[in-house]
Amino acid sequence: MRVAIVGGGIHGLSTAWALARLGHEVELFEQHEIGHAAAASADEHRLIRTFYPGEAGYQAMARAAFDAWVDLWMDLGERHYVPCGALALCREEGDWTDRARLTAAGLDSATETLPLDEIRRRNHALSTDGVRYGLWSPWGGVLLARRILAALQAHLAARGVRLHENTGVRAIDTVAGELTLADGSRHHADLVIAAAGGWLPGLLPDSAPPGLQSRRQTLVYAEAPTGYANAWENSPAIIDLGGERGGYAVPPVVGTGLKFAIPDLARPATGPEAALAPAGAEIVADVMGAFAGWLNDGTQYRVVSARGCCYTMAPEERLHLRFAARCLVVAACSGHGFKFGPLLGQAIAECAGGGLAPADLARWAAGRR
Ligand SMILES: Cc1cc2nc3c(=O)[nH]c(=O)nc-3n(C[C@H](O)[C@H](O)[C@H](O)COP(=O)(O)OP(=O)(O)OC[C@H]3O[C@@H](n4cnc5c(N)ncnc54)[C@H](O)[C@@H]3O)c2cc1C
Repeated sequence: MRVAIVGGGIHGLSTAWALARLGHEVELFEQHEIGHAAAASADEHRLIRTFYPGEAGYQAMARAAFDAWVDLWMDLGERHYVPCGALALCREEGDWTDRARLTAAGLDSATETLPLDEIRRRNHALSTDGVRYGLWSPWGGVLLARRILAALQAHLAARGVRLHENTGVRAIDTVAGELTLADGSRHHADLVIAAAGGWLPGLLPDSAPPGLQSRRQTLVYAEAPTGYANAWENSPAIIDLGGERGGYAVPPVVGTGLKFAIPDLARPATGPEAALAPAGAEIVADVMGAFAGWLNDGTQYRVVSARGCCYTMAPEERLHLRFAARCLVVAACSGHGFKFGPLLGQAIAECAGGGLAPADLARWAAGRR
């Protein structure tokens, strides 16, 4: 089958990988360079975790995602993943972590609750003031996103997938399976995969999932004060710091930065490119101010850099994989889609080969069991 993929983020590249290994003829079109800053997939790291409060379907998918990553590492011949485990803290009954514990109970025997002294042992930079317990899973860690995109790009090129960078797609005729490129030329395929992330509403106004919203998120890279560098280097991925607001911290694994973010502080943006504007001092202070209360000597962290980026949010944070005639629209975003890249790619390839019905693909991707 001839497949044209629009978008060179994790979903376009993973889908190209899964289709090419089944022998399909794949071409991919990316409007910028693969890995450019406005793509949601382009960052040093993304977390993988199985904690999914109230979402047993996504919890099961997240566990299955690990096997798909192993398939990818085997094809790449290298692993871009640090399996440091995942830790979330509960401060209030019913908060994100507490609900994740309830969802995991009975589904995931690897998840365990940790007493406060054990939290301190895993990372003594974390303050346990006001913490009820920790939720720990060995099924978690840091995916080295930028390296994954680069490795996929090299692997696909070596496999004969034609990657067209700096080649924007202006329009998709979903019925004819035809792309119109920015220079006016046309490209025809048996199947089109539209994996254009936050640009989907502009590209496919009638077929993009309704209610996709761009939100500007601020990522802060910081240096820990003396005495805590080692704690962070050996830390699990901190998925949620509990309470009403939460926040996550990515440890500085294999030479990457220590990163802090608070999803609740994201603000509406007009689109992915607009969200790239430099982070203002006020928002950086808000992020680090919140972390100051969660960390020992939290006011002593030195901000190294900060940047804005785009969260594309879907209603209920569902992943969307739906056909519009000969075009599969892929909107796997909402701040949790990276971990599913190879798994979704494999499911799409199975569907393209007739082994999975489109309606089942859509239901599964939406986390419905
Ligand atoms: C700050 C932040 C933190 C996150 N943390 C996590 C996490 O810890 N774990 C996790 O699993 N997920 C996380 N996510 C979500 C995850 O990063 C995204 O779900 C995922 O990267 C989306 O990938 P994508 O390929 O769909 O989109 P993108 O990476 O945005 O790629 C879309 C690509 O399509 C291209 N494109 C768009 N329009 C066109 C066109 N007309 N023609 C050609 N090319 C086009 C774009 O240039 C872009 O390169 C996070 C997201 C953000 C922003």
